[in-house]
Amino acid sequence: MDLSSFDAGAQYLAGRLTGGTGSETFTVVNPADGSTVREVVLASAEDVDTAVAAARAALPAWSAATPGTRAEALNRLAAVLAERAQDFARVETAQTGKPIKLTTEFDVPGTIDNASFFAGAARNLEGKAAGEYTGDHTSYVRREAVGVVGSIAPWNYPLQMAAWKVLPAVAAGNTIVLKPAELTPLTALMFAQACTDAGIPDGVVNVVTGSGRLAGERLVSHPDVAMVSFTGSTAVGRRVAELATATVKRTHLELGGKAPFVVFDDADLEAAVHGAVAASLINTGQDCTAATRAYVQRPLYRAFVDGVAELYRAIRLGDPLDPQTDLGPLVSYTHRDRVAGFVERARSYATVVTGGTPGTKGHDGTDLTLGAYYQPTLITGAAQDSEVVQSEIFGPVLVVLPFDEDEEGLRLANDTPYGLAASAWTTNVHRSLRATREIAAGCVWVNDHIPIISELPHGGYKASGYGKDMSQYSLDEYTQIKHVMYDTTAVARKDWHRTIFGDRG
Ligand code: NAD
Repeated sequence: MDLSSFDAGAQYLAGRLTGGTGSETFTVVNPADGSTVREVVLASAEDVDTAVAAARAALPAWSAATPGTRAEALNRLAAVLAERAQDFARVETAQTGKPIKLTTEFDVPGTIDNASFFAGAARNLEGKAAGEYTGDHTSYVRREAVGVVGSIAPWNYPLQMAAWKVLPAVAAGNTIVLKPAELTPLTALMFAQACTDAGIPDGVVNVVTGSGRLAGERLVSHPDVAMVSFTGSTAVGRRVAELATATVKRTHLELGGKAPFVVFDDADLEAAVHGAVAASLINTGQDCTAATRAYVQRPLYRAFVDGVAELYRAIRLGDPLDPQTDLGPLVSYTHRDRVAGFVERARSYATVVTGGTPGTKGHDGTDLTLGAYYQPTLITGAAQDSEVVQSEIFGPVLVVLPFDEDEEGLRLANDTPYGLAASAWTTNVHRSLRATREIAAGCVWVNDHIPIISELPHGGYKASGYGKDMSQYSLDEYTQIKHVMYDTTAVARKDWHRTIFGDRG
């Protein structure tokens, strides 16, 4: 893995990597062993201003480019990403600790697919039919770019989040300044470089590597930024919304989650157990849609807990670059300690069935003590209003609770502030229809939990935010609608003028 291209700096401004004018440095650390991946210089407020100015300068030409031209560029981007797939996978693994099989089979191909989806979507903007709705006018609707978009992304899927932010924005003719999370800026910078290499004009895609407090707040408050698209925690999302209010920016907020996993007593138990293990441990549980609270109807409860515990104990922790590794470290030592804190506090009011300790030994005997590893952890006996059931832990921790009546299971599933995703497990069509209708979440899976695809929308209800990523719906978020109305009568005195002139009309 050659990171020498970052010698030029960690700000991607107007089509090139540059050092910027900041003085504060940040060390990107590999959480598998604590080694330095790269030291970067963080953006100053001036660097954010430079990025916004570049995006503003690029806006007139890019927003006027035909959909076909934008689509061609995005198709080329998909090809460039595919050529560099291995580099992306390795850098993503180094800066996050994700197992290489996840970055190779999920993060990178997902991003390539997103690029080719948005290439097609760019040519398919839709709207109301033009026509004579009053009889005296012809009306039509224009769908226009919003302007310069400021985007802020989290560290859990750095490449995919960059893609989810950049692709719909530029497909719809906007230009963008993206601020990745401090912990994981490298693949977002590589993504911006790939955009340039694919022929996307300089200034259309800019990346500022900086802190939330300084670069993030500057971007959100900038008067030349027309829209803010944010993915991250609900707490920071509130702050972003507050700051955006001062300049009346459009906001798009993808926030935290605490997804329920509801297992009815007619479910296929083997499918539910395997589904719960995979959906709670994907990305080491650092996934906003991960299964975090399993509600299991009493007849299946015991077998479900035993089944998950058995599979959890067989999960292979290890070096993220080892293709045999199932579970890598958490993204940082601080985050590992935060996750451990939830589990330690839970010991006073619930039962830790398995896990609850840092991972110290890999599946092949490797010493993992230098990494931010944590064992898959299963908790039972927690009350519905307890911290582990209500708060986003964002780690490999699953809480299982029993329920009796269907109505109770659905009520408990809805009983947190979040509403990003959920799943229902049943072989009964009426139960599944009821669950999909009554669960308040932006996505409800039936007999699966996690798959996300380019064609369909992703986004929250309740404190999980609003606005949709991916799919044709996300293009709506990144466009504004203009009604254009032509008088067709050519008469000086219009019929409606009677409301002013009365019988003199
Ligand atoms: P975070 O909220 O701490 O940070 C997200 C981003 O906001 C980072 O780039 C950070 O630098 C920036 N930021 C921090 N303070 C800021 C401020 N005052 N002004 C502007 N920007 C600021 O989140 P995180 O820890 O990076 O990511 C984990 C969170 O993201 C979880 O809550 C998770 O559920 C959420 N998430 C949601 C989705 C979704 O689609 N809904 C997807 C992925 C992650």
